[in-house]
This record gives sequence, C-alpha cells and structure tokens, in this order.
Amino acid sequence: MEVPFLDLKRFDATLKADLMQAFQEMLDSGLYSGGKQLTCFEDWMKEQVGAAHVIPLGNGTDALELALRALGVQSGDEVIVPALTWVSTAEAVTLLGATPIFADTDEDGLISDTWTEHISSKTRVVIPVHLYGKMVEMDRLCQKADTLGLKVVEDAAQSFGAVQKGKPSGSWGDVGAFSFYPTKNLGALGEGGACVTDHPECADIIRLFSNHGQMKRDEHLIQGRNARMDSIQAGFLLILARYFEDFQTRRKELAQRYLDELGSIAELKLPESILRDDHNAHLFVVRCVQRDELRRYLSKNGIGTAVHYPQLIPDMKAFSQKGDFQTSRKLTQTILSLPLNPYLKDSEQEFVIEKIRKYFKH
Ligand SMILES: *Cc1c(COP(=O)(O)O)cnc(C)c1O
Repeated sequence: MEVPFLDLKRFDATLKADLMQAFQEMLDSGLYSGGKQLTCFEDWMKEQVGAAHVIPLGNGTDALELALRALGVQSGDEVIVPALTWVSTAEAVTLLGATPIFADTDEDGLISDTWTEHISSKTRVVIPVHLYGKMVEMDRLCQKADTLGLKVVEDAAQSFGAVQKGKPSGSWGDVGAFSFYPTKNLGALGEGGACVTDHPECADIIRLFSNHGQMKRDEHLIQGRNARMDSIQAGFLLILARYFEDFQTRRKELAQRYLDELGSIAELKLPESILRDDHNAHLFVVRCVQRDELRRYLSKNGIGTAVHYPQLIPDMKAFSQKGDFQTSRKLTQTILSLPLNPYLKDSEQEFVIEKIRKYFKH
C-alpha cells in the first residue's frame, strides 16, 4: 500500500463538480479581478473570524508583510519571531528592512514565554505563530505585549478554524495573517491569503497598499503595489468553505484514532492537545529520538511523512543569527508529521498505525 502524506488530487466527485460549476460561472461572468467573489469571501471570513475588517490578499506572506507595514514597522525596527516556523514569518520582517529577532519555542513549537528577554528599544512587534494549528496562549501574550507597548501580528497561516476562549485565531492580535496555500486546512486551488483586523486605520493601509495605493481607480493616495487575491481563488475558496466543517470533523476523527492507537508507545510523544478547540488539527506532529530511522522505515513501507521544519530560521544561511534556541533546535531533530488530512482513508491510517507499532515492536 502507498499512503501519501497529502494528495490533493483526491477531492471527491461532488467537490470537483461544485468547483467546476463555480469555474463555469466565473468564465461566463468574464470578471477576473475584483467583483462579487471577493466581497462574498470577505463577508464569509468576517463572520468566521469575528473581525471588523478582512482584506483578501495574494498569499500569506503578503498578509504578514502588509500587517507589519500597517503597524508602521520599518527599516531599523526589530520584530520578535519564533526560531521554528515557516520561513515566511521572518521574510515578512526583512522585506520591510526590519530585523527579525528569534526566540526559542516550547516543546509544542510555540513561541516561549522567554520571548520578552529579546526586547530592545528597537522592538515594535511580536509575531506569535500558531504552529501546526495549535494556538499560542493569546491572553497572556497580548497582555504582555500591551504592557510593553508592543503590537501583535498573529501568524494564523496554519490555524484557520482554531478558537481559544471563544475567540478565533487571527482575531487576537492587532492584525491577523492567514494563508490559503493549497495544503492548509482551508486551501485555494493556488495562492491566497488575508489580513484581518479590528483597527480601521490598519485595514485602510492594507487595502490601499495591496491595490496600488488606490481606493478609487486612478486616485493613488499612497505608494503601494499589487497584492490582491485573484477573483477565481476567492470563488474557489467560497466552495471549499462549504466543506470546511466536515473536513475539520474528519481531521479530528483521524487525530483521535492516532492518539488512541499510538498512545501506549513510550518512545513516541504525541500532540495530546490536538482535539481541543484551540487546535485545528492542521498537522499531526509526533516526537521521537529515532526520527530519521522511523521516517526511513515508514518511507520503505510506502508511507509519506514530512518534517515541519528540519532547520531553524536563525540557522539558515539566509537569516543566520546566533543563539541557543535549545528547545526548538531539539524539535528539528525529533519531530515527524504523520499523514492527517480529510482525504486519508481509514484503511490507510490503519496501515500507518500498524507499521508504527511494528517499528516499535508494540
Ligand atoms: C503557509 C505559511 C505562511 C504563508 O504562506 P504563503 O505560502 O505565502 O501563503 C506563513 N506562515 C506560516 C507559519 C505558514 O505555515
């Protein structure tokens, strides 16, 4: 048996038919930029995230960059980001000429409470990343940031749908950034992203900047660029949005199964909090000392896995920054993401579980 880590060819027939129909309608309308798909998607997002303003954008990296820009981050400023994250979190900072200052994470890969030790007179913003779909304790982080006079940009690229204390991820920070990259829980058929915020001034800057500085055609109020979402992607996202709840239910079901069936393997640390509301079960990340060997064994048995991520950003040549980052560095050596997606079949998960148990002679 071959079990892919994620196979996006597996959309079921009704989803495919719905997407085809939406595409047909968009073709017939001849509208490929702006228009009702975008405003409908905006309205849907507002409801989901409970934010006053939603600005659909071309991708999640743009969303992070524009969020920082709207909060006034510029050359010479410092922004605190976790050492373990997708590279975008740091890229967004350097794109503005500012400096990312890396902080260690806890055992779950979330920014450690020690992030405050990295504050200097140049610090403007902290970016908590809800890695793997698990939310950072936002009450605590936002309160700390507020006391220290810092702004919060929430990297909610992996956590769409997660809710903490009744408040959705992305709605806690001054600005929240989402990605709709195809592999995310809500993924477009291409690139997509969005900023959400309750601050009207931030919303205005992001909207203006992403549209050549114009609110109305040919009235350029600020210097900007083009960072808009494609109408077609907004149209596809509106279809995928209808499947989102069912997909989430399936993810949680699969996660529960992994917890039940792998829980007794002492060598394996499981993501125990994955069933909670403040985790959207984006990735099922286990930890074990023999990670590389286990991964090779599973691969030999036809099972696809992934490592999110094998290298800390400060260890990358492009970003190189000195520091211990003890906990997050250890994670890069021990984490392994098992297949967990709405397209995974029961029989495939059983096979994955069987092989893992066999590996550990369980
Ligand atoms: C996916 C992702 C992004 C943004 O990704 P894009 O590919 O630009 O949409 C940002 N941060 C994290 C943590 C991500 O996983």
